[in-house]
Amino acid sequence: MPAAQTASVGLLAVDLGGTKVALRAEASGRPTFDRTFRWPPGADPAADLATLDAEVAALRAAWGPVHTVGIAMPATIEATGTVLTWPGRPSWVGLDFAGACRRIFPDSRTAYADDGDLAALAEARHAGHDDVVYLGVGTGVGGGVVLGQRLVPGRTSAEIGHMVVDLDGARCDCGRTGCLQSVASGPATLRRAGLARGRHVSFDDLQAGLRDGRPWAVEAIHASCAALAATVVSLSELLDPAVAIVGGGFADGLPGFVPLVGHTARLTARRGRPPPVVRAAALGGLSSLHGAVSLARDLVTTSTHLVVEGS
Ligand SMILES: [Zn+2]
Repeated sequence: MPAAQTASVGLLAVDLGGTKVALRAEASGRPTFDRTFRWPPGADPAADLATLDAEVAALRAAWGPVHTVGIAMPATIEATGTVLTWPGRPSWVGLDFAGACRRIFPDSRTAYADDGDLAALAEARHAGHDDVVYLGVGTGVGGGVVLGQRLVPGRTSAEIGHMVVDLDGARCDCGRTGCLQSVASGPATLRRAGLARGRHVSFDDLQAGLRDGRPWAVEAIHASCAALAATVVSLSELLDPAVAIVGGGFADGLPGFVPLVGHTARLTARRGRPPPVVRAAALGGLSSLHGAVSLARDLVTTSTHLVVEGS
C-alpha cells in the first residue's frame, strides 16, 4: 500500500486474554475506539468466537472499516494455525485459530503474535531503544526480545518464562521443573511466602508483609527477584540488550520489586560485560494491546510470515 494511502487506514488491535478481550481501533481522522469485554460463561470456543465476531461487527458499524488487524495471543499456536496449548482458556486447544481469523476478518490483512512478544515490542518502542529484553511478571512470566527493532527469534515466540533457572526447582505448568515462572511468577511467589508464613498469603498480604518488613514476605520476593536477575544476566550474555524492562501486574503492584531485580543483576556484573539497565515497564496492562497496534500498523507496509492470508 503506498505511503500516501496509509493516512486513513483503519488499524484494529485485539488483545485476547484468558477472561477478557481488549479491542483498540486507530485511524488518522477518526477517534480512537476502545472496548473491553469478557468472554461469555461456559468456556465454549464456538460461543467465544461468536461473541468476538459480534463485537467486531459492532465496532465496524460504529467506527468504520478496518484494513489491518493485529492480534496479541497468549496461546501456543502450531504453524498450521491450530491452538496447541492455552492454560488460560484450555477449551480452545485444537481450535483452528487461523481459520477463525479468516472468518471474522475476511476483508482485513490479519496477523497474530505472542502477547509477550508484542508487549516487548511496545515497551521497546515506547522506551526508544532498538535492543530490549522484556519480562512480564503476572500469573506466569511472559516476555520477549527485541533486537534491531525486530522481534527475536521471529519464527516463533520467545519463551522467557520457560528458561530454566533451577533444574531442581518447583514444577512448572508446562510439566518441567525449574522454569523461571515456576520460581518467579505471582502465584509461585505467593506459594513460597505461604509456606514460610505457615498459612495462605494473598497478594494484599504480601504487599502488607513487604511494607512491614516481614521475613516471609521479604525472602519470597528476594528469591523471585534473584531468579529474574539471573535471567536478565543470562540474556545479557547472549544478546547484550541496552535495557531490560520488567513489568506485569504482579511486579507493578510491589514497590521496590523492579529496583531489586536491577540491584541483584548489578551484583553479578563481570568485567567487560555489565548487565543492562533494568527499568520498570511504562505501559502497564496495555503493553500487549499497544504491541498489537504496532503489529497492525506494520501490516500496512510490510509482510510477515505470521500473516493469516485470506482463503
Ligand atoms: Zn515451563
